[in-house]
Amino acid sequence: MDPLPHVIIFPFPAQGHVNSMLKLAQLLSLSNFDITFLVTLDTHDHLLNHTDVISRFGSGFLLQALPHGISMDVMNTRDGISMLYDSLNKIAKPFLREFITYSPVTCLIADGLLSLAGDVAKEINLPIIYFRTASASSFWSYFCMPDLIQVGELPLKGPILSQIRTVCPNVYTIGAVHAHLKAKLATKSTSSNSLWQEDESWMSWLDTQPPKSVIYVSFGSVAGLTKEELLEFWYGLVNSEQKFLWVMRPDLIIGREKKDEIPVELEQGTKARGYMADWVPQEKVLAHRAIGGFLTHSGWNSTLESIVEGVPMICWPRFADQQVNSRFVGEVWKMGLDIKDTCDRDIIAKSIRDLMEKRNGEFSQRTEHMASLAKKAVNEGGSSYINLDRLIQDIRSMIP
Ligand code: UDP
Repeated sequence: MDPLPHVIIFPFPAQGHVNSMLKLAQLLSLSNFDITFLVTLDTHDHLLNHTDVISRFGSGFLLQALPHGISMDVMNTRDGISMLYDSLNKIAKPFLREFITYSPVTCLIADGLLSLAGDVAKEINLPIIYFRTASASSFWSYFCMPDLIQVGELPLKGPILSQIRTVCPNVYTIGAVHAHLKAKLATKSTSSNSLWQEDESWMSWLDTQPPKSVIYVSFGSVAGLTKEELLEFWYGLVNSEQKFLWVMRPDLIIGREKKDEIPVELEQGTKARGYMADWVPQEKVLAHRAIGGFLTHSGWNSTLESIVEGVPMICWPRFADQQVNSRFVGEVWKMGLDIKDTCDRDIIAKSIRDLMEKRNGEFSQRTEHMASLAKKAVNEGGSSYINLDRLIQDIRSMIP
């Protein structure tokens, strides 16, 4: 029997990265690859506690923890990201060197944020492929921002991918990994790979709501809100008089204390029209027929999940790639409103009414069109399908 390809997949320890790279792992596993999914110790424990990752994959899959290291919880602290990088550099490099010595590996698929994996791969002459959990447009903007400003090429024009190929010649544009899985498994939504306990209590509430009547609100897994921002959003939602389902992560509000009082009109407005949950299976929420809009921080996973379900967005970007994503949603794809860093209750209420009612027809037309393009791309003959297949064949051809 021919040997199976064995790939190490190594994500940066954050929800959006782990989620999409674990879906890539599942796709490769469906093509008969052996997978070692390498994660930090706390990511390992979170995945074991909150997902069905072991039973979902079966044999040929190893969830491998790095021996020790700091927790991803530091990400919300000052200097947290650089502490995390330092820790990964110290622990992952020797671990990878040793692991690869004892176990034959065909190739390493590392998060595009982990250049340390590239250092090791180069040292031991192992093929490496970087997986980017951000969009092509934001990757390119960050990569050449100084040059673009100098030659007057901002805002971005023309075909981004052909420009990326001038520095990274072999790009596999595989698109939304969860959409591939949905197509392959013929399912409405895939496992969320959640690092935290999922609340499903919202489902019975959402089931009773009319089609496209609820706006879903989530700022992803990392971004936080000040108490002032919280109030502006909350008043905006209540004053919009639309129904809402809001993910209120326990660490969402910076400096929130139990004794902080909530204005009575917000409590009443929420009771009448809203539902709050700590953490939800987002793909499942976005696929629900009652969801008509998404107020998002424009993380790339959230953006892709919304596009695939044809849900129009209000974008309130915070950092990293989010501003570029939000600009594309609002100005290029016309799939919603980019409110930038505006945080004013009246503007938020008006944007929600515009998205859900006044301009809904215009946005729905665009989002339905984009969702159908996304579906076409991951089905047989589509561009993402062809690129995923090319990736699989190329890795197979690396087996010595
Ligand atoms: N997510 C989730 N439950 C929630 C909120 C978010 O499962 O209640 C998932 C969401 O589906 C997405 C990821 O968390 O896959 C967030 O990634 P994204 O790139 O959107 O933002 P980040 O958290 O990296 O800022």
